[in-house]
Amino acid sequence: MAPEHFDVLIMGAGLSGIGAAYHLQKLCSSKSYVILEQRKQIGGTWDLFRYPGIRSDSDMLTMGYSFRPWTHPRAISPGDDIRSYIAGTARDEGIDRNIRFLHKIKTASWSSQHANWTVAAVRKMPDGGEEPVTLTCNFLLSCAGYYRYSAGYSPEFPNASRFQGRIVHPQAWPEDLDYTGKRVVVIGSGATAVTLIPAMARTAGHVTMLQRSPTYIVSMPEQDRIHNWLRRFLPAMWAYRLSRWKNVAYMTYVYQLAQHYPNFVKKGILKKVREYLGPDYDVETHFNPRYRPWTQRLCLVPDADLFEAIKSNRASVVTDQIEKFTEKGILLKSGKELEADIIVTATGLVMQILGGIELFVDGQRIDPGASLAYKGAMISGVPNLASVFGYINASWTLKADLICNYVCRLLNLMDRKGVRQVTPKNGGESAVANFVENFTSGYVERAVATWPKQGSKSPWRVYQNYFRDIVSLKWSSFDDGALEFSSPPKASTDPALAGRPLKKSVAQTFYPGQS
Ligand SMILES: Cc1cc2nc3c(=O)[nH]c(=O)nc-3n(C[C@H](O)[C@H](O)[C@H](O)COP(=O)(O)OP(=O)(O)OC[C@H]3O[C@@H](n4cnc5c(N)ncnc54)[C@H](O)[C@@H]3O)c2cc1C
Repeated sequence: MAPEHFDVLIMGAGLSGIGAAYHLQKLCSSKSYVILEQRKQIGGTWDLFRYPGIRSDSDMLTMGYSFRPWTHPRAISPGDDIRSYIAGTARDEGIDRNIRFLHKIKTASWSSQHANWTVAAVRKMPDGGEEPVTLTCNFLLSCAGYYRYSAGYSPEFPNASRFQGRIVHPQAWPEDLDYTGKRVVVIGSGATAVTLIPAMARTAGHVTMLQRSPTYIVSMPEQDRIHNWLRRFLPAMWAYRLSRWKNVAYMTYVYQLAQHYPNFVKKGILKKVREYLGPDYDVETHFNPRYRPWTQRLCLVPDADLFEAIKSNRASVVTDQIEKFTEKGILLKSGKELEADIIVTATGLVMQILGGIELFVDGQRIDPGASLAYKGAMISGVPNLASVFGYINASWTLKADLICNYVCRLLNLMDRKGVRQVTPKNGGESAVANFVENFTSGYVERAVATWPKQGSKSPWRVYQNYFRDIVSLKWSSFDDGALEFSSPPKASTDPALAGRPLKKSVAQTFYPGQS
């Protein structure tokens, strides 16, 4: 029996996958699509992460969808509200009917002869077993996020097994963890650490943030007062759009300022920290990073909650290195021992491309790390595939929206031209930079080799700039000399030919602008 076929297959039912489905329904209404999701619920990141205090670290006015206003009063929002915003979008737009849960995609194989993908997945059965599922599609849209779901990053700590208390990773937070009155040490000082420390400090005995080196931490109001004021007399969508542009402009300004005047921005951030923590606090040791602002993601805390927890002695910061774990806690290189009942290893994520699937084009295995990224959305030499990757210096959804809109316009163009295959072709451009450049966060550095590279010029550049991407993904012509459109002849019915590479001479190639 022929596998079930869809025009578009979306991998992942997180923020991006639901947004992608909305765009398809709106802009390519005649196309059939399905979403395959490995988990049993909508939400991706916002369903997986359940640690105390889980919240956004950018404002929801830019992290919300362009097409659905964010109407909660809190702009820095708890994970639950984000999850219900995503699920509400799926429900209200009828997208949830097209999701197949507990389907984990393993491989995708492109056949030029049939101009389609064969997608192999496994479905988790109620009895815990698995069964293989195969589908075909004309276009594969990866909305699988950017990290491994099965486990976070956990470095080996010497003697970890000797510790008598509990060791917990935020990516797998145990529901039954009771930390009331307990001594907690959180290893790390990234976004996750600064989120969960003030939340745990409310009931824990004491929470210590143990960091090897400091991070820039900036406080922002949890509520966007201008947005909440605008909502009093403007329709929700108008208030949202105005506030969204205000925040995009502000974030772009701050990022550019940090790029051009890093010392000025650094001084401003540290001055604020001193104001929060008082003149006697050792800001130099604990909050003065060795890197320039925005060469790693700035950590945002709502209404200075982390600083409040430190000021009230419910939390503290130790800047030191781990010698080894002991029965009672952690022995530091300085000789000091931190005693703990619970150790939280907020040591980060393992970045992963395309949901960890294996990719084949006409039988050849594709190594994304040896390819170039086209507009930060497609991969050189790989037909009919796009992947959503948001910004590292701004909200993810800004770029996700642009990529989904771009894919829809591309599909419509292909229909008008009557072509079935589109491939970004690298005609001699060299890789000159990593997918994410000038960014030194550990999780990025550990993974960049496996991600596509950037070339020296557009369309082979990956911008971290919303305004440049609007031009690149929304306003630029498809006729840029890099996209090759072709229409392989109709598939043969001879199964012996299936999957064989198409001879170049029989593939007819079109470029946009040709009639
Ligand atoms: C703790 C945390 C906080 C964050 N905070 C912010 C923030 O404040 N602002 C911001 O802009 N960004 C933030 N991010 C980045 C965040 O991931 C994005 O905002 C957004 O959630 C990404 O949505 P997504 O749908 O692209 O990916 P995800 O949310 O990761 O969803 C991907 C989906 O794809 C599914 N999937 C993956 N592989 C497969 C497969 N092989 N087969 C089937 N399904 C698969 C997953 O199960 C998941 O449901 C944060 C990330 C983390 C981890």
